Amino acid sequence: MNAAATSIRFFNTLTRRKETFTPIEPDKVRMYTCGPTVYDYAHIGNYRAFLFEDLLKRWLEHRGYTVTHVMNLTDVDDKTIKGSQKQQIPLEQYTARYTKAFFEDITALNIKPANHYPKATSHIPEMTSLIKTLINKGYAYKVPDNSIYYAIKKFKNYGKLSKIKPQALKTGARVKTDEYEKEEAQDFALWKAWTPEDGDVFWETELGKGRPGWHIECSAMSMKYLGETFDIHCGGVDNIFPHHENEIAQSEAASDKPFVRYWLHNEHLLVEGRKMAKKFGNFYTLRDLLKRGYDPIVIRFLLLSTHYRAQFNFTFEGLDAAGAAVERLRNFVRRLQDANGKGSGGRIAELVRGVQAGFGEAMDDDLNVSVALAALFDFVREVNALLDADVVSRKEADEVAGLMQGFDGVLGVIGEVKTEEALPKEAEALIKQREAARKAGNWARADALRLKLREMGVVVEDTPQGVRWRLEKKS
Ligand code: AMP
Ligand code: ZN
Repeated sequence: MNAAATSIRFFNTLTRRKETFTPIEPDKVRMYTCGPTVYDYAHIGNYRAFLFEDLLKRWLEHRGYTVTHVMNLTDVDDKTIKGSQKQQIPLEQYTARYTKAFFEDITALNIKPANHYPKATSHIPEMTSLIKTLINKGYAYKVPDNSIYYAIKKFKNYGKLSKIKPQALKTGARVKTDEYEKEEAQDFALWKAWTPEDGDVFWETELGKGRPGWHIECSAMSMKYLGETFDIHCGGVDNIFPHHENEIAQSEAASDKPFVRYWLHNEHLLVEGRKMAKKFGNFYTLRDLLKRGYDPIVIRFLLLSTHYRAQFNFTFEGLDAAGAAVERLRNFVRRLQDANGKGSGGRIAELVRGVQAGFGEAMDDDLNVSVALAALFDFVREVNALLDADVVSRKEADEVAGLMQGFDGVLGVIGEVKTEEALPKEAEALIKQREAARKAGNWARADALRLKLREMGVVVEDTPQGVRWRLEKKS
């Protein structure tokens, strides 16, 4: 499909409006997403952010764009240094463990890999060069301890993303930590001169002995891989201030060009009404949930299925409902494999047109996935009714299967559906006994056998095409 033929709209945090998406280069999208700080196992709130970005990328690709996606790895900052010191291991060894875990997690969640995963520690020269430019242009200054700060009052647009009023800015006051609140907006550290607390984490550079601040990392790495102006930058809403505000200040002051055209921010995953966060102790890592037997694809579905700009509460009931929804989709695709009716007399063609339009319009409208999924599940219900009536022809079933494959290219939850799953020998015998009981009209025995099979994790269904079984997924 020609990407230009469609009209996608995104809510741009910069303007606080939905805008028609037009990339700089036709049919190509350059996108940067703030990656994990590899100081611990990421929690599923973080994965909500990464899954929203995955959905965004997959939708752009579905609409025909070629996406260049860069996700950084923050492997040096206040948190990583503190963590490695606590465990008394070198920073590199410490962050390598969580970087490996991150890649394992995103594979399990079926997140498509980015084109580049730049590590902050491999880009110190790019950062020092950017800081030098900022010093030369009068936006940065050195303080007596040799650290270098960004002078926010020099950048006239400071606050344009987070909407902080310039008069509220405490210019001249300085903050050295990477994270701070809006009320504390002040000059922030670009380069942190070495102090004994940093231990052996430092670089000897033209700027002196020290390490970069967190914000300069993303400015340097995004511009290196995507150019001085690129299309989309994402992150969670907690990144709007100070991180992304500071990225804009650094990048635009250095290049004199607009940094990013569309800023997209996802809302938080909550637990009992509060942001899921390490510092609140109310988090689940992906590993925690996998250990409890949950399917990572069900977790994917749960985290994807609410609109990215709406907060939502994580609950185990929600996870169970997500499991049932994924099973419904998989069962539907499985059923299509058996269809061989005489034809629906145009009903399938009409339903296909309807769901294509419903799903597509919703996704084009700022990735309104909940509306898109509602259209999809309506479609599944209606086609299931036609399958029940045994009127879906082989050709129609193939068309629907192809359509489902297309949707799954976006959702990534159905995957390969196999009819030939391994059935335990004992279950095979019970299914045969149940068939015999049904033939003999012994419904009580047939029901008892069905229950027994269910306890073994085998779900038996009587369909117009005969008896079907499937292994129940723990979800
Ligand atoms: P971090 O590893 O802390 O830098 O965070 C990685 C990404 O996860 C960032 O885009 C954050 O904004 C995002 N994030 C953190 N907590 C949550 C949450 N509870 N819900 C959704 N996104 C989050
Ligand atoms: Zn970032």
